[in-house]
Amino acid sequence: MSAAQAPFQYQLLIKQILKMPIAQASRRQIVYRGDLRFSYPQFVERVHRLGGALAALGAGMGSRVAVMDWDSHRYLESYFAVPMLGSVLMMVNIRLSPDQIAYTIDHSGAEILLVNVDFLPVLDAIRDRLPNLREVVVMSDAAAPPAVAGSAGDYETLLASVPAHRDFPDFDENTQATTFYTTGTTGLPKGVMFSHRQLVLHTLALMSTLMMAGLNGRISREDVYMPLTPMFHVHAWGFPYVATMMGMQQVYIGRFLPDVVCHLLRTEHVTVSHCVPTIMHMILNAPAAKDIDLTGWRVIIGGSALPRALCEAALARGVDIYAAYGMSETCPIMTMTQLRGDILDTEADRPEAEIRMRLSAGMPGVLCEVRVVDEAMNDVPHDGASVGEVVARSPCLTPGYAGNAEASAALWRGGWLHTGDIGTIDRDGFLRIVDRVKDVIKTGGEWISSIGLEDIVLTHPAISEVAVVGIADDRWGERPVAFVVAKPDRLVDEEAVRAHVRAHADAGAISRFAVPDRIIVVDALDKTSVGKLDKKVMRTKATAMITP
Ligand code: ADP
Repeated sequence: MSAAQAPFQYQLLIKQILKMPIAQASRRQIVYRGDLRFSYPQFVERVHRLGGALAALGAGMGSRVAVMDWDSHRYLESYFAVPMLGSVLMMVNIRLSPDQIAYTIDHSGAEILLVNVDFLPVLDAIRDRLPNLREVVVMSDAAAPPAVAGSAGDYETLLASVPAHRDFPDFDENTQATTFYTTGTTGLPKGVMFSHRQLVLHTLALMSTLMMAGLNGRISREDVYMPLTPMFHVHAWGFPYVATMMGMQQVYIGRFLPDVVCHLLRTEHVTVSHCVPTIMHMILNAPAAKDIDLTGWRVIIGGSALPRALCEAALARGVDIYAAYGMSETCPIMTMTQLRGDILDTEADRPEAEIRMRLSAGMPGVLCEVRVVDEAMNDVPHDGASVGEVVARSPCLTPGYAGNAEASAALWRGGWLHTGDIGTIDRDGFLRIVDRVKDVIKTGGEWISSIGLEDIVLTHPAISEVAVVGIADDRWGERPVAFVVAKPDRLVDEEAVRAHVRAHADAGAISRFAVPDRIIVVDALDKTSVGKLDKKVMRTKATAMITP
């Protein structure tokens, strides 16, 4: 804090979240894989010890500390301890290629790395490309962790070697707290950055938004929280900070394995989670999930549009599923479904209106302004049909990309963050994401939403998963091609699927131009490191397969 700052200028620092009396003393637990259980006071003590251990390794204001771990109590501890030292937490995307991992760690300037033993082979392979990395701390679930040459020691031993309490410093709330690299579906990964102030405001805003999301209030201290979004992905969308601030029971899964997730869902009585659609699809179809009562499990879907078929399948199992929208650059949550009684009470077909609400990207959360604009930055009419680019402002958005002025300027054109998504807003204020600018299919002078088309293909009874991409076409500009995965024991007949889509076009649901030229049956769709459809790869494949 600068000397000139008056004492009443309360700084929004991450340590204030942990200072909440409930976070200090909640009688709920932080559970790791069902094996390890920590009380909140123990957790708080471990955060203090981690701070002390990192300080002993030289971490202080402005130091970069990277973490490579599965979802764990240790990761949660680093969410607090690293920024509370004034250092920057760098969340390594462990699903990137070794080359990209080396690039991101090096680019972030990380000096200290906390690494799970499972990733030591990756680290060995790239160590000589990390000249700034001074210290490596090894994390392991084993009671007697292996000694690793060249490391500062193992996590638990280091925690045990320092005092149980540490006075964390005060500083300016605009100090950078975290960084995360976007998955780089185009070009090199880019580092987004968030400050203490932004994370505290995101925590408060996300909590309030979650409370407004449902008909009867959505989230409370009594929930049992289990993230299914990796913790390296923009602080697991910021939910762990909310769960900690509310003193909730929290469950961390370690490495994502559907059987482990199903086991924990049952034994820990989980009530709230969040994930991308692919993960939800995997869990609903896991043999281990067949006999579990999922009634009342609340799942917030983001990262991609929530497909109608997935929403209906989840609702049929009693899951309370609904969508949120955001991106790495936005901390990330910007909008969330609100099941609004004021609308539903006036709808003739209430169940259908409710599903449409669950599928929409929802309404802007607290302190977030969202507009849909044309190229001249004029708002398009709020009629649920006019499309434009989604732009946003809020106190939580990244100021830009680390060391990349050009991309930062492009992101923040005209004082608004440009999402690269095409959307519509309806008269009730609900946002619907039609497509990404780069995924929309421009054919015969029309724009076809790949997401809208996917929803229609998915209603075919033989199809389990689908991705639609556009490939260049001399005559039409682009033409849609669908990759599909058959349901177990079903055969997909290409012509039948095309006829199915054509029937929707005949009924006026979509343009006739939208009927895909080709349906390509595959065993699995290409996915990015965080489980989203990798349309870049599929476009290349489709082009190679179809172009003569
Ligand atoms: P990447 O850009 O590497 O895929 P992000 O996780 O930042 O990584 O992805 C953000 C993008 O995901 C958004 O720009 C949008 O295209 C898509 N997305 C997120 N939530 C939704 C949603 N509810 N509906 C449709 N698309 C979504």
